[in-house]
Amino acid sequence: MTENLIAATYPSMKKNDLIVIGGAGGFIGGSLTRYFHNQGFTHIRAIDKKPLPMWYQITEGVENLNMDLSEKVNAVKAVEGAMEVYNLAADMGGMGFIERYRVECLRSILINTHLLEAAYNAGVNRYFFSSSACAYNIDLQQDPNVRALKESDAYPANAERGYGWEKLLSEIFCQEYYAERSLETHIARFHNVYGPNGTWDGGREKAPAALCRKVIEAKDNGSLKIEIWGEGTRTRSFMYIDDCTFGIDQIMHCEKLIATPINLGTSEIVSVNELVDIVEEIGDVKLQRTYKLDAPKGVAGRNSDNTFIKSILNWEPNTPLREGLKTTYTWIEQQYYDRKAGKRTVHD
Ligand code: NAD
Repeated sequence: MTENLIAATYPSMKKNDLIVIGGAGGFIGGSLTRYFHNQGFTHIRAIDKKPLPMWYQITEGVENLNMDLSEKVNAVKAVEGAMEVYNLAADMGGMGFIERYRVECLRSILINTHLLEAAYNAGVNRYFFSSSACAYNIDLQQDPNVRALKESDAYPANAERGYGWEKLLSEIFCQEYYAERSLETHIARFHNVYGPNGTWDGGREKAPAALCRKVIEAKDNGSLKIEIWGEGTRTRSFMYIDDCTFGIDQIMHCEKLIATPINLGTSEIVSVNELVDIVEEIGDVKLQRTYKLDAPKGVAGRNSDNTFIKSILNWEPNTPLREGLKTTYTWIEQQYYDRKAGKRTVHD
């Protein structure tokens, strides 16, 4: 545990200051809303373009608004009276989504552009942007045995088509709003986040959730087979949701991290095959694997170099993958059987 500042310990922050969270109907935004509520904040405005019944989490006592933040007029309303704004809203998903829907991903630029301008005009104190490891130069990610990516590796730029370029350009907006207009902005580059209350079905899910679901399905329907996207050798690191929300809070309240993109991810790298091994162990089953080589699979390897975050925060995301996956598997299993029993799940 560190002595870094977080919202609850930030000297000028009061428990009834308004915190605004965009994308709060989604995985990370919903978890961040609950996180601040649990810290005792009484005035949280949660916003998402999805209708309220489709939000992954509803936290009691929070003002929930159903608005499209890519519309300027809504962005202005959203930040009215806010002390802090967290932008977690984006049209996004796993590789299956971001390789297929590049225009939708790029159009998320409108959300950040309008929210930043509105935050500046409203005199907001701090603004957070959720960037991604997809902003990094893809030439550095062509081998499963990659060197971990450090913050300077985003330039010279050659980001992931669509999604990655939107993140990189939105980072620049945040940096220039500080440089030219003194709006305090904070930027984290997330590396694959997983955990309960995230997308686990429907096409936007990422590898950990998709693999948990496939193992659960294979056990349930007795096929004992699993189809893996790609050749199984691609590598990634995966961060548990609790590390993500705590990391966002620390980054937002660190004066050394103003307008300075920073990695937020674990440096525990695994291949997709190793990820399947762990999920099989959790599910107590061994499956016959087939590999879908023409499926969307992303870069060959990617890991987070945590030298910078450790030097600034004396902390890095540290939930062991096996532990986080166990909790995630249990949650998805419950969702799966709830759906089968005709009960509502986050996707219904
Ligand atoms: P998510 O899809 O679960 O949540 C995003 C939410 O934004 C959704 O509920 C969606 O309805 C909402 N949204 C989209 N467009 C909107 C709009 N115009 N107005 C209002 N709401 C809108 O995704 P997530 O995993 O919670 O991701 C949150 C943020 O973190 C995103 O910016 C994403 O790019 C970034 N990120 C996530 C990961 C990850 O592994 N989950 C990795 C890197 C970066």
